[in-house]
Amino acid sequence: MRHASPTFAVILFLLLAAVIVQPLVAQEKQMSNGKDGVTAPAWMKASCANLEQELAAKYGEGQRPRIQRGLKQAGEYWRAEDGDATVFAEFVRENFAGDQATLDTVFARFERLMEQLDGHMLEINKEFRMQSDLDAGPILPFDEVFAGYDPSAHVNDDFFGNRLAFVVLLNFPLTTLDERLTDGEHWTRRQWAEARLAERFSKRVPADVNLAIAQASAEAERYVAEYNVWMYHLINGNGERLFPPKMRLLSHWNLRDEIKADYADSQNGLAKQQMIQLVMERITTQTIPAVVINNPGVDWNPLTNEVRPATDTDAGAPPTPKELAVNKPEDDARYTTLLKTYRAARMADPYSPTAPTLIARRFDEDREIPEQRVKAMLEQVVSSPHVPRVARLIEQRLGRPLQPFDIWYNGFRAKSRYSEAQLDEIVAKRYPTPEAYQKDIPNMLVKLGFPKADAEAIAANIIVDPARGSGHAMPSSMRQAKVRLRTRVDKTGMNYKGFNIAVHEMGHNVEQTLSLNDVDHYMLHGVPNTAFTEALAFVFQGNDLKLLGLEQDDPQTEALKTLNDFWGTYEIAGVALVDMSVWHWMYDHPDASPAELKEATLQIARDIWNKYYAPVFHQKDVVLLAVYSHMVDSFLYLPDYPIGHLIALQVEEQMRKAGNIGPEFERMARFGSLAPDLWMKNASGAPVGADAMLNATERALKQMGS
Ligand SMILES: [Zn+2]
Repeated sequence: MRHASPTFAVILFLLLAAVIVQPLVAQEKQMSNGKDGVTAPAWMKASCANLEQELAAKYGEGQRPRIQRGLKQAGEYWRAEDGDATVFAEFVRENFAGDQATLDTVFARFERLMEQLDGHMLEINKEFRMQSDLDAGPILPFDEVFAGYDPSAHVNDDFFGNRLAFVVLLNFPLTTLDERLTDGEHWTRRQWAEARLAERFSKRVPADVNLAIAQASAEAERYVAEYNVWMYHLINGNGERLFPPKMRLLSHWNLRDEIKADYADSQNGLAKQQMIQLVMERITTQTIPAVVINNPGVDWNPLTNEVRPATDTDAGAPPTPKELAVNKPEDDARYTTLLKTYRAARMADPYSPTAPTLIARRFDEDREIPEQRVKAMLEQVVSSPHVPRVARLIEQRLGRPLQPFDIWYNGFRAKSRYSEAQLDEIVAKRYPTPEAYQKDIPNMLVKLGFPKADAEAIAANIIVDPARGSGHAMPSSMRQAKVRLRTRVDKTGMNYKGFNIAVHEMGHNVEQTLSLNDVDHYMLHGVPNTAFTEALAFVFQGNDLKLLGLEQDDPQTEALKTLNDFWGTYEIAGVALVDMSVWHWMYDHPDASPAELKEATLQIARDIWNKYYAPVFHQKDVVLLAVYSHMVDSFLYLPDYPIGHLIALQVEEQMRKAGNIGPEFERMARFGSLAPDLWMKNASGAPVGADAMLNATERALKQMGS
């Protein structure tokens, strides 16, 4: 097995060790941890055996399991350049904490100093970004260099270099996701905190490997960022242009958003949507002529795939010469790019023993939800009996059968009770300056149900700054630093859109404050991953009208919002399932060509479509689920979207049940960054899953009389 699991490698190692009692020198030279390119020094095995005896004699048999584990962990990451056998032995003797009191001291000191390290690094980062983040005058070129500088970039290397990482590996357990999920439920908070500390050093990826990954990532981002379609130059069978001049849409986001916007165009909307679907299909199948990409110099009929020099110029560019305006494909560049990201990601595998593939790193480390469970919950959504019911509802609203691009239907929206202008006026009067908003935070938190004393303490930890962009929240990583709410306030005061965003960001700030300042262990600060902080921020954002003293949404509005969430999750769950299957295919076919990857991707997209979408869309073999650009440049990131929707709905449902937001919010945020399922069980009584969304959808369908 090329990508043997660590457990498998360990068992193999133990078997070999048992058979060959006195290892031969030749065999010792061959000894490795079973992964390409990473070889422990030849003396390591014998050295560990001696040290185990020595330390067990010194600290007692009761310590032997810890000694074995610590030696194995430290030995696995030790390289020849870290020192010879004498250096290793000396290091182990000096740094193994052989009794509980010493271990407590080591842990407490590391925890305190890690907070100082993270906290100060983040404060440097915040200061360096200040000019580009805040509405504070022009950005000079060097400001951007400051903003892009990450002072913590080499901390991991440094900590292996100065051996602090080895102190941790020698004393605290590296755990697999399986252990965290099965045993973790019974762990103490301290055990969880120790696991989190050890995790920081579960990888020792060489700088050149990190560089290769960064380069592949940057190249893919460039490919995606320059993939524009000039819409005025799309021609239908009658030679007509359906889109306005100068319209340049980035694939796939802008193309998708144009499909959404076209529902409002009763005249040409449908024809435009059908044309965009064709364009998307040509991108995924790579039958799009290379010359039409990011080029307003040619006209293109996406149906016949005919290309010719533009007969009308809209973007100031001259028509492309006739001999170049030809239908020649881009040579599977999309799949070449994806393949390069896979090959780069794979280079880190041997240096990541507890998660030896990119797939494992994404699910076991980043998400901490096993892939099989994620797959099951996504399949629960796409195969839900609610799908045909919601599909029928959409057909009724559209007055026609669904077409494939209707996976992006966005018509479940209620008419607002208040006009945007009315809301702008109310907000501007209330918040003429960022200071006015800052002053009102305690009141707003009380309105959301936070106890008064807590509201004041939390508000005192939030600093409001004027944002250059639309707004964002900045956490802090040490308790003595404050969190920042960046918000946009015009000279005429804050407008409603800015307020709506500020309330969302304030939700982040409140979570950031509670999950750092009120969590018992620094190593457990935060929430399991970004989906959780987003879910909590959405709870705030969804109550913005209440904060203005206006009437909150009615059941009908709520039902429409739920149906919108459900349909969006149904769409993106299929996209995520394609992304997951494609990464497995690449790992199963490490030497595939771009053309083979293309065929495999298209087949995967068709299969998933045929199984879960064709029944309601009346059409088979559609490849649209493979059009997402994040599939090309984001290393298996897409499953985060549907998981995020499910988590947000679970949190919202819990808030609805509890009735009072403040105390629930506090209870959830103070739990800290344990595994997502444990967090969600504490928050809502159930692990992360699709049930809450499906129940809410059932309720919404009833509300809509369907
Ligand atoms: Zn957010």
